[in-house]
Amino acid sequence: METITSKCVLLNAQATDKTAAIRLAGQLLVEAGYIEPGYVDSLLKREEVANTLLGATVAIPHGMVDDRHLIRRTGVAVVQIRNGVSWKDGEPARLIVAIAAQSDEHIALLRRLTRLMQRPESIEMLVETDDPELIVSALADVPAAPPFPAPVALPWPADAEASWALDYPNGLHARPATRWTEVAKRFSSEIRIVKGLEFADAKALTGLLSLGATRGDTLNVAARGNDARRAVDAMLEVMRTLSSEEQADAERARRNAMAARRQAPDWLPEHASQTLYGLGASPGLAIGQLVHHAAQRFDIQDTPGDVIADGEALEAAVLKVRDALSVLEAETRSRLGANEAAIFSAHRELLSDAELLRDAMVQILHGHGPAWSWQHVIKARVEKLQSLADPLLAARATDLRDVGERVLGTLLGVTRQRMVLNAPSILVAEDLTPSDTLQLDMRFIVGLAISGGGPTSHTAILARTLGLPAIVAAGSALLAAPEGSKAVIDGSVGAVYLDVAGADLDRAEAVIAAQAAARAALRESRHQPAETTDGHRVEIAANVANAKQAAAAIEAGAEGVGLMRTEFLFLERDTAPDEDEQYRIYREMTEVMAGRPLIIRTLDIGGDKQVPYLNLPAEENPFLGVRGARLLLTRQDLLYTQLRALYRAAKHGPIKIMFPMVTHTVEIEALRTHCARARAQVDGPVVPIGIMVEVPAVAVMADRFAPLVDFFSIGTNDLTQYTLAIDRQHPDLAAQADSLHPAVLTLIASTVRAAKASGTWVGVCGGLAGDPLGARILTGLGVDELSMSAQDVASVKAALRSESLAAMQTLAERAVAASTPEAVRAL
Ligand code: PEP
Ligand code: MG
Repeated sequence: METITSKCVLLNAQATDKTAAIRLAGQLLVEAGYIEPGYVDSLLKREEVANTLLGATVAIPHGMVDDRHLIRRTGVAVVQIRNGVSWKDGEPARLIVAIAAQSDEHIALLRRLTRLMQRPESIEMLVETDDPELIVSALADVPAAPPFPAPVALPWPADAEASWALDYPNGLHARPATRWTEVAKRFSSEIRIVKGLEFADAKALTGLLSLGATRGDTLNVAARGNDARRAVDAMLEVMRTLSSEEQADAERARRNAMAARRQAPDWLPEHASQTLYGLGASPGLAIGQLVHHAAQRFDIQDTPGDVIADGEALEAAVLKVRDALSVLEAETRSRLGANEAAIFSAHRELLSDAELLRDAMVQILHGHGPAWSWQHVIKARVEKLQSLADPLLAARATDLRDVGERVLGTLLGVTRQRMVLNAPSILVAEDLTPSDTLQLDMRFIVGLAISGGGPTSHTAILARTLGLPAIVAAGSALLAAPEGSKAVIDGSVGAVYLDVAGADLDRAEAVIAAQAAARAALRESRHQPAETTDGHRVEIAANVANAKQAAAAIEAGAEGVGLMRTEFLFLERDTAPDEDEQYRIYREMTEVMAGRPLIIRTLDIGGDKQVPYLNLPAEENPFLGVRGARLLLTRQDLLYTQLRALYRAAKHGPIKIMFPMVTHTVEIEALRTHCARARAQVDGPVVPIGIMVEVPAVAVMADRFAPLVDFFSIGTNDLTQYTLAIDRQHPDLAAQADSLHPAVLTLIASTVRAAKASGTWVGVCGGLAGDPLGARILTGLGVDELSMSAQDVASVKAALRSESLAAMQTLAERAVAASTPEAVRAL
């Protein structure tokens, strides 16, 4: 059906006011034979009862339903008014798309228009074009043909721009995207995030999410307006600041999942009618009756009423839900903390997206009821999110559905029913929205079993925070499990056992009690030293990035800092920190440590951590490229700034300097010379100089490296990836990058042997140190110190206190002699 032709396009028209503009459009429709002249008055009448300004300077005048008999056939006319004409509350319209629709044939046109409006430069082009065919092709209902030139072909003169490679392991999901919008909204400039041919308004959450940006995507931040430069800088800052948080979250989730896969269950039943496996999302064992959580479903009828009243009702419902979310956010913050509360600010942000409401309003304008319109728009967005290639982003569709349903409930006056429980229960659900999770009756819910979802879903995060054992991705068989059956859930290994009874239940209860007691005991004993039963003491330290983390690590039981990763000081900004800034940071570290051991590692950039402002050449294999000490030796500006700052800080408390990624003995000689020179420049004290042992060459020749350094610290993360030739971040292989591999243990053993022979102190700061079994083997091998993330300190100390050094030495010997990591674990 032909609804628009170039005859109905009037370019560069002049109109003194809205009425004149509508009359011009009406005239085109009359001349083309689409309407009777009387319908022009109907177009004007509509303006008295509704605002037809869609946004982005596009207006869609259309007549009253009662006057449809004046339409001869469906048609559209476009009047282009480049200077604009005041439409509503001083807001101008520049593209007047007058619609005469006999039924709903024009919905496709509206969809096209609103889609174009999401790309303001597309509208800009239609307003400026001298070619009526361009307007025809942009609006014509030709679904198969790309309606428009690719947006990238359209120049958008930004006043400032910059590009950044997204490095969030889980892509751009709702939490970081919300923080982006919060920053963007502080500026008056229009800010766009461009990804390839697509872009989104940085102030609109749903737009950002629909970019489907995943790790590695290059994003361009462009801004136009008075504060464009500052806006771009601030956007870059927040984007980068979130990198380390996002990476730490993903690393924790990955480690938990890997640990769960390897863990032998604390409890297994003799009899269970069925066992269902999923992924462990929150550890621990729980016993309860199965209770199915019925998702609230709304049966929506399309009941249009008065357009204005319907629009107002929808807007009021959205505002009400936003207020309710603010309350929920504040409650969650005080109950669980800012991180968990952020889920609800993300939800509120989803509702602040003007496009959602506008799209729903368009549906209302075209004769649909408010609930139907809202549901229609939400459903389309949810489907779009679900269709994105990245499952992590697709999972965020749950958030949008959650807020969408809240609004529907409010609009329809339906309150969420609370489940009535009276006995310990394991909640079974297809998926739980964060608000469902938080509104659970915690007196009775003891565990969560979810058939869908993933370990990084908000539900999983909340369950961990609430200390509620949970499994996810258990499959649809879970939903068929009978309500009320007695079940046990093991959130550590990711299993649900159905119909457990008798002695099995008694044993499970004993294990639960023991787990609770162990958690309490660990916490109690965290400040006790890691002294083996035969009196051998190992120093326990923490890996940190800043003074705040160092203080938290000490509170968690750490006796020192075995690795301060200084690259984090460089990662979250636009320029390198200067000497004074670094000096202040290192000095603050010495103050927090108050005389405790502190090893500060020099910049380890390269590999997985890139810093755009250093303008380093892109490398095919960055893990094998100019990384760590290799970089510092070629960038002495960076090296000297850092060394001088370190030597100045060393006047305030003990510091050891450590160099990463050393491969050759000559590098140590060169680094020592630079250290001596920097020290002399600031008149600093002598400090111990050591290296990370993370390249197999150094471990193999440790006897020749040990005499050259004051200490070694073994980086098992990199030593493992380089020994096994497995990228430590590889999505499929990373689980095999197992530091308990006997090849890695053999290299560690040779390093420790060489260190002992020359009286060189040796620690371990890679992930193996924080694994209780790894820690026992390393102690058996003879290391002096173990440095790990703060949350592992208490359990590693307890593991070392539980056994004798002699037993750990035997364990270590057998581990080195084993053939596989599985065999090592079996010991
Ligand atoms: C290591 O490689 O084990 C290490 C501790 O350093 P990073 O993880 O920072 O590379
Ligand atoms: Mg390393």
